[in-house]
Amino acid sequence: MHIHIGRTGSGQAVKISGSRNLTFENIAREAADRKGIEMIGIIDCHSPSVQEDIMKALDSGMMKELEGGGIEYQDTVILLGSEIEIRESGRGAAHVLAFFRDLSTMQDFTQWMSRYMKNVQLSSQRIYVEPRELQQEILDRGGILIPAHVFTPHKGLYGSMADRLADVFDLNGIAGIELGLSADSLMAGYISELDHFSFLTNSDAHSLGKIGREYNKIVMGTPSFDEFRLALKCKAGRHVSANYGLNPRLGKYHRTYCSSCNSILDEEAIVSSQERCPYCGSLKTVMGVFDRIMSIADRSKSSIPSYRPPYHYQVPLEFIPGLGKASMSKLLAVFGTEMSILHRASEQDIAAVVGEGLAKSIVMARNGTLELSAGGGGTYGKVVIKP
Ligand SMILES: [Zn+2]
Ligand SMILES: [Zn+2]
Repeated sequence: MHIHIGRTGSGQAVKISGSRNLTFENIAREAADRKGIEMIGIIDCHSPSVQEDIMKALDSGMMKELEGGGIEYQDTVILLGSEIEIRESGRGAAHVLAFFRDLSTMQDFTQWMSRYMKNVQLSSQRIYVEPRELQQEILDRGGILIPAHVFTPHKGLYGSMADRLADVFDLNGIAGIELGLSADSLMAGYISELDHFSFLTNSDAHSLGKIGREYNKIVMGTPSFDEFRLALKCKAGRHVSANYGLNPRLGKYHRTYCSSCNSILDEEAIVSSQERCPYCGSLKTVMGVFDRIMSIADRSKSSIPSYRPPYHYQVPLEFIPGLGKASMSKLLAVFGTEMSILHRASEQDIAAVVGEGLAKSIVMARNGTLELSAGGGGTYGKVVIKP
């Protein structure tokens, strides 16, 4: 639900830091042919040059628009979305996702948005309207609004903009919450206004291979925009039934980071934005997601509503010490996808391919028993290797 476009079919840049081959068509193929992902959200569909690619795919018959909203390519449904940067005076910036039912609605939204944006071709651009006005424009077009990576210090709503979502948006017009890499349901349970929202675990993929490293299991009828909306609202038996996300300790912004002495402050005590680094006394710290949540919490203990689905921690295979490119290719050749290795293959079967040591680490990753040092300041956490 958070896939960016790197380039269009004609080579025009959309997300500058994204890979060249992240085109609308290639993403659809990767999801359908290689990953078996039944629904994906592409969040640069507001870009007029991306819309040209979509029209080509529809005109050629390669893809088609669904009755219930969304675009079908083989067994995958693509939802048309946009990531937008908002800002209010005196506050930091934050990113939100907007999804619409069909291409013509997205084009109409682009028309409106282009009046308040410097370059509507590009990804995640700032819009110069009040957040509540943006929210109303999205809802008026039958769209869905989801605040993105809400806790991250860089452009997460709680991380850089406000202590409460209700200070920025009308809560009734929020469809769901994207947790981001450094937080999980347990951590979000410290903030009571989040109790009523479905959580999504997605992450921004900068290359085709990384698509689907985080994902959601959703109970729907046949996948479509309308069904997705029902699922977020937990209506008609539809719901998000499981979240699969990176173990938050491995996330790039889990704990506060001091840029003076380059320490990740993985301590018991939280270090909030006004405090000094306990090692060097500097105030040049980037606040971690964990530290931020604890400092804005309105509960002393996390509370998880009964409908909240299980959250499965993932330790991507590339984090496992000793598992290099050669072992990775062997495993993929036998088990097909990283997900089947991480979640389904037996220890015995893995051991037969890459040996007992690595098999044990993979199973420990699955069970959440590997020791992890926390990430922070833009650096991922690590699996701690015991001598
Ligand atoms: Zn973002
Ligand atoms: Zn320091």
